[in-house]
Amino acid sequence: MARTIIVSNRLPVRITKTGNKLDYKPSEGGLATGLGSIYKKGDNVWLGWPGLYVNKKEEKEEITRELRKENMVPVFLSKQLIKDFYEGFSNETIWPTYHYFSQYAIYDHKKFEAYIKANHEFCNELLRIANPTDTIWIHDYQLLVLPKMVREKLPDVSIGFFQHIPFPSYEVFRMLPWRKEILYGMLGSDLIGFHTYDDMRHFLSSIGRLIGVNNSRGRIERDKRVIEVDSFPMGIDYEKYSNSAASPQTIEKEIRYRTSLGDQKLILSIDRLDYSKGIPQRLQAFEMFLQEYPEYQSKVSLIMIVVPSRDNVDQYAELKEEIDLLVGRINGNYGRLNWTPVHYFYRSFPLEALSAFYRMAHVALVTPMRDGMNLVCKEYIASRLDQKGVLILSEMAGASKELSDAILINPNNISRIVRAIHQALTMPEEEQEKRISVMQETIKRYNIHHWVNIFMERLNLIIEERKSLATRTLDEKAVQSLVDAYKSAKSRLLFLDYDGTLTGFKPNPQSAKPDNELLKIIESLTKIKKNRVIIISGRDKNTLDSWVGHLPIDIIAEHGVWLREKENHWHTIEALDSNWKEELRSLLEVYVDRTPGSFIEEKDYSLVWHYRKVEQGLGELRTRELSSHLKYLSTNKNLQVLEGDMVVEIKSSAVNKGRAATKWLQDYPHEFTLAIGDDWTDEDTFRVMPENAFTIKVGGTTSVAKYNVLGVKDVRALLKKLI
Ligand code: UDP
Repeated sequence: MARTIIVSNRLPVRITKTGNKLDYKPSEGGLATGLGSIYKKGDNVWLGWPGLYVNKKEEKEEITRELRKENMVPVFLSKQLIKDFYEGFSNETIWPTYHYFSQYAIYDHKKFEAYIKANHEFCNELLRIANPTDTIWIHDYQLLVLPKMVREKLPDVSIGFFQHIPFPSYEVFRMLPWRKEILYGMLGSDLIGFHTYDDMRHFLSSIGRLIGVNNSRGRIERDKRVIEVDSFPMGIDYEKYSNSAASPQTIEKEIRYRTSLGDQKLILSIDRLDYSKGIPQRLQAFEMFLQEYPEYQSKVSLIMIVVPSRDNVDQYAELKEEIDLLVGRINGNYGRLNWTPVHYFYRSFPLEALSAFYRMAHVALVTPMRDGMNLVCKEYIASRLDQKGVLILSEMAGASKELSDAILINPNNISRIVRAIHQALTMPEEEQEKRISVMQETIKRYNIHHWVNIFMERLNLIIEERKSLATRTLDEKAVQSLVDAYKSAKSRLLFLDYDGTLTGFKPNPQSAKPDNELLKIIESLTKIKKNRVIIISGRDKNTLDSWVGHLPIDIIAEHGVWLREKENHWHTIEALDSNWKEELRSLLEVYVDRTPGSFIEEKDYSLVWHYRKVEQGLGELRTRELSSHLKYLSTNKNLQVLEGDMVVEIKSSAVNKGRAATKWLQDYPHEFTLAIGDDWTDEDTFRVMPENAFTIKVGGTTSVAKYNVLGVKDVRALLKKLI
């Protein structure tokens, strides 16, 4: 039976030790709840570090046994490894870099080695329990290189990866000394998820620029696999927060808090202690608010909850001191006997207490400098049963992409935050209700269960596609039947595309000249009397002539504009018009002027704009612009605009490879037909082939061809078999 295995740095459990006795408490985080619907089922498990250091063998065995009952499998890590891998590389290198605090990032190769070692330990434990048919879902920035490690050992296993923190812009990411190892590590996955489109965009740009891996709308073809990258904004357990807000315990707490606070308006802020959360800036904004709007003194308080975290790291300890000082200054300057401006708590609270705070707060002030998602703002919205209240949200939080009805602010703009606080405190109730209800709809629908389902469904789809592709791979059996059919046929037509099929792509199109091996293969095929070999290419006829024209083959050039049957002269398929070229050439010239590295290739009946050597990203941008420009200009000229591999080609729409190939099918006998090609212009060839033809697509993507092979090497190997 196929199982699902969740892997994260921490298991969703808190184990405490009193004397010799171990006590297990499940953790209540939203992720644990959401993934509960997976790992608690049947034989599924969650694998991760149990959160404590264990040396004794018996104790390890006991913990393993106990956790097994909860469908959890522990990975035991030493204190030193946790220090270097988790506190070190994960939190002192990846965390600051990914949150745009590169100035805090430590580049220490030893810590990176520890990171690799820890990921290896996760991999080893995983391999002890995983089967090739399982689905593995790996979580977050502590395990970025794990997907590749698992893929190497279990090539066919399904791997999903989700990153819960932002993925930084390429400009920031590229500063990491170990950037390539990290990207290759992630690409071991089948599906890579981020919270927002921007994170996804940054990741795609990084793999393109740093390791030359291109994508088409988030789809990457690599080796035999397709990898998909997409955004899956994570939600909260909506029911849990709305139910908790309505519970008697919460209401009883609210009454108690209210009695001691009086009837001031409350602004709420809740975060873990972290420099990415913008806590000092928020305090400064509140202080400035009291200065600029003195009428609110004694009438508004800020309740600030800071949950202790990582305070053994220097930056966090400094941050804590800064917050202490700021709170002290504000309360010292503004406080009165009956009014405390900032109620500051450096500790965590149980759910009912949080729910009571959420219920009481007129304003939630969520202003991180950078946050992957931010759940506090969603929990606040879910807890507003009366649909009143105002959310002020940083546009640097992933959640801002979904919650456009919040008051969105730039956390660096303190005076804007001050105005936002005033706007929130004076917002009419109808407007509050309107905004909160829209946001509730969103958060209710895109809750944590929805998130889990959507991600898993997508992963399953990719796996299904891979399986169906696998059945189409030209395996030994298929090769044998091809060879048998070839042998028994008295007449044969072999349609071979050139670039990407017989030779690989080169940065300069002129350097894709046939090598000796290829020339020998073609020549040997033509020496066999029953064969008719047709090179069917998008290239211009002169190039093809000079490369393979000396051989007794047929050539279809320029996607079917020019035809040559053996030694006969070149002729066009019909009378074609090329008057349109002049006007469009001058347009293309403008694009070449604006785009260093690009150039125009002129064929008899088509024009091609090449951008393989253009700065990455710029070429794609210009292509979008050029294509729409061309589509407009070409509509009544009967022209077609083709986007190929780093090229845009304009040609007469009366011409395509399929139409040209049909001529051969009509004119020559063919008991056996073979067509091989790699891009979508070859799909036209495949479509016109007879029922019994062997059609082969080069590359791992879907096609109307019957079979797939991986690359040029496989094509050549197959052709050699026919010789
Ligand atoms: N939280 C908590 N106890 C507290 C304060 C906060 O359990 O005393 C929870 C809060 O409800 C939220 C989480 O901590 O679910 C913080 O998540 P968020 O995404 O906002 O920030 P992160 O800490 O993950 O960066």
